[in-house]
Amino acid sequence: MQFQGMVFAPWRIWTRRSLWFKTLLGMLAGIALGLGMPEQALLFKPFGTLFVNTIKMLMVPLIFCSVITGICTLGKRHLDHTGVKAVCLYLGSTTLAICIGLLMGWLLEPGTGAALHNSIVFIAPGHPTLEQVLGDLMPANPLQAMAEGKVVQVVVFAVALGLAINAIGTQGEPAERLFASLAAAMNKLTQVLMLLAPYGVCALMAWLAARYGLELLLPLLKVIGAVYLGCLLHVLGVYSGMLLLLARLNPWHYFRSILDAQALAFTSSSSATTQPLSMQCAEQRLGVSQRVTNTVLPIGATINMDGTALYQGVTALFVAQAFGIDLHLFDYLTIIVIAVLASIGTAGAPGTGLMTLTLVLTSVGLPLEGVALIAGIDRILDMARTTVNVSGDILVSVLIAKREGELDLATYHDPDAGDDPE
Ligand code: ASP
Repeated sequence: MQFQGMVFAPWRIWTRRSLWFKTLLGMLAGIALGLGMPEQALLFKPFGTLFVNTIKMLMVPLIFCSVITGICTLGKRHLDHTGVKAVCLYLGSTTLAICIGLLMGWLLEPGTGAALHNSIVFIAPGHPTLEQVLGDLMPANPLQAMAEGKVVQVVVFAVALGLAINAIGTQGEPAERLFASLAAAMNKLTQVLMLLAPYGVCALMAWLAARYGLELLLPLLKVIGAVYLGCLLHVLGVYSGMLLLLARLNPWHYFRSILDAQALAFTSSSSATTQPLSMQCAEQRLGVSQRVTNTVLPIGATINMDGTALYQGVTALFVAQAFGIDLHLFDYLTIIVIAVLASIGTAGAPGTGLMTLTLVLTSVGLPLEGVALIAGIDRILDMARTTVNVSGDILVSVLIAKREGELDLATYHDPDAGDDPE
């Protein structure tokens, strides 16, 4: 019995650890294995490929159902003018965020030292003319687009179908429920298959480390630096600018009042978990009216993913640089549009941004091996991007409340003024 306990104890400790921790350990173990026993490590490649194929399998159905469900949820809110303003501000700030992410990736070149050029066979798709781009936007055959993994066409079709389901009112309800149920099932399947991540990432990193040595680690550290720097720039620069220009409010008070929500977002990596605290911060510490909080923050939770979009900009460029793939202006535009649309279908839960990263990479023909590379450090990146997502949710509620005369300026400037000194 005691012997059995000794054998199973490490396994029990391992299974109790959270997934992100195991994935990080998997990455480090893979690198150690690849450096220490390069010949044996090369044998691990098929397991890495299996993991990458699992991600590929999930990508199209997950995104298709999630985008339709996101559009239907939004449509159900019967957006009034406050809601429409919120949607525009959220999508606008997400577009700025992805541009900052791309800028960070372009300036800091996190993937340049990785030199994984020969690790996969990559056939550049070539650069289409404007005529081809427009023609390719609409799938002639949606099923074929799904089968061929043409994600831009799949997303366009999902958005159109979501809008059509909304337009037919009660008749569309069964379809809405079907897609919501499929989206939930796909999320469940993703959660289950992601339990393989520590082993898949370990196998892939072992193989890559055996081939490329320690050169692999520095670029991953650079990705962390670039994402954190981009997040700081976005929150301190863009959000301050928006508060000053659009609402003539001193940003200091906003930053001071959202610290609790930011701390919970950073530690939980879930904007959905943080939402009640975000609502409390908006109402009690920033003076946003209850009506605006109740209308705007749930929309933010559905569509606002500034931090996630920024991270996808940095990581897409990291993958392109690491695998030696040139991106052109049209690719950058595609990344921007797809990351913004993907944010509509991203749930505010830990790690969902990694799944929508598959969509962004595939839209410009970047290899999905990049996702496995990022998976090992994803939790560290998730903490920063969730903090930005939550900060952006609250920011828009303040901007709209100010515009609509529903911001209590006394509370905004001094949230503690009414508190009992006891
Ligand atoms: N964890 C993020 C959130 O909850 C989503 C993501 O994975 O990017 O907002």
